[in-house]
Amino acid sequence: MDLLDCLDTTWSGAVVYTDDNTKKYLDRPYGRVNRKQLKSKMLQKCISNGVKFHQAKVIKVIHEESKSLLICNDGVTVQAAVVLDATGFSRCLVQYDKPYNPGYQVAYGILAEVEEHPFDVDKMLFMDWRDSHLNNNVELKERNSSIPTFLYAMPFSSTRIFLEETSLVARPGVSMKDIQERMVARLRHLGIKVKSIEEDEHCVIPMGGPLPVLPQRVVGIGGTAGMVHPSTGYMVARTLAAAPIVANSIVRCLGSDRRSLTGDDLSAEVWKDLWPIERRRQREFFCFGMDILLKLDLQGTRSALTNVNKEKKEKKKEDDEEKEDEEDKEKKKKNG
Ligand SMILES: Cc1cc2nc3c(=O)[nH]c(=O)nc-3n(C[C@H](O)[C@H](O)[C@H](O)COP(=O)(O)OP(=O)(O)OC[C@H]3O[C@@H](n4cnc5c(N)ncnc54)[C@H](O)[C@@H]3O)c2cc1C
Repeated sequence: MDLLDCLDTTWSGAVVYTDDNTKKYLDRPYGRVNRKQLKSKMLQKCISNGVKFHQAKVIKVIHEESKSLLICNDGVTVQAAVVLDATGFSRCLVQYDKPYNPGYQVAYGILAEVEEHPFDVDKMLFMDWRDSHLNNNVELKERNSSIPTFLYAMPFSSTRIFLEETSLVARPGVSMKDIQERMVARLRHLGIKVKSIEEDEHCVIPMGGPLPVLPQRVVGIGGTAGMVHPSTGYMVARTLAAAPIVANSIVRCLGSDRRSLTGDDLSAEVWKDLWPIERRRQREFFCFGMDILLKLDLQGTRSALTNVNKEKKEKKKEDDEEKEDEEDKEKKKKNG
């Protein structure tokens, strides 16, 4: 995607603590996106390709057969061959015909200067499900046992670190106050004394829920188009990968020849490229994953994570064996 320059820090691998006795290494690199750099790079690309911006809030859209009119809150009307709604969870123009019943990922994070922390600066801490920090607080421990939260951390140095207490998914979402209480108890237990907070974030991400009406006249992308991963809450990478698909689809449909499409036909083609049937099936499966996660307590979550890891290892072993078999066959063929 030519976006590596938008990562401000990378770690060679990640760590997961499933409980107080189990630590696992994930052998894959992890990067932190520099949001300002990413936004500025995108804006630069738009400007150098002649994109024109108009800053206003869209209040409604009027569709005609082959064009649409966007009515803005500053009185301006913008004419469009195709309207792309990227208004996130406010779902301004894209329509839904089923009740919205998402799960919620809730997290509280701080980028902090600390006296010290116990984490390896070469690894990012993907998930820490340990709960021994709650041993002296029966009430918090019980709450955490039924709806668990984990710590997610990105150590930048021995004294600068991003720390985030996260509820993976719950319906209704865990309250921010509860999350913060758990985080305070965890940091105290880990011996992390915060000297100053550079940034803090309050994160509430709706996950899962039905897809919008498919197809429909307005095309959607991002949160408004159901693109948040229903069982992890991630969306940014998937949407960045989908953007060129949508753009190419629009360019192809608009075309310059007589076969170019307009109105409903154009939007239907673009929706098909954004949500092809195999992607929709995959999303159904991820939503099923979310429904399971919603039912799991701390013990259940730990077992699920252990089983996923086991399955991944077994799959890798099978793949490696298959590869070796293939290589043996190739060798035998070559040697006659
Ligand atoms: C603290 C925090 C941390 C997160 N961390 C991660 C992460 O690590 N990885 C990840 O993948 N996701 C993460 N997420 C989730 C991710 O940020 C969201 O899923 C994502 O921002 C949704 O993108 P979007 O473009 O669909 O919508 P948004 O980012 O919500 O953008 C919608 C835009 O539309 C504009 N808008 C709304 N209504 C109108 C209107 N009527 N007219 C004109 N404009 C309008 C809004 O002003 C806004 O600019 C995080 C979220 C939070 C809050």
